[in-house]
Amino acid sequence: MPKALLCPLCQAENHCAYAANPAARHCWCQTQHFPKALIARAGRGRCICAKCARAFSAG
Ligand SMILES: [Zn+2]
Repeated sequence: MPKALLCPLCQAENHCAYAANPAARHCWCQTQHFPKALIARAGRGRCICAKCARAFSAG
């Protein structure tokens, strides 16, 4: 499993369509709002999974 397909926070699959296929046009992350602090924690160019995005937003 390429690292790009894994969530840097929990190591589960992030299901990022862009990471899986650079030609993809849609990804679940487009409908999400990611706080800057969360992006900083994930690291540059890494996609987190929906579960971690929800957990972070919920505080
Ligand atoms: Zn995760």
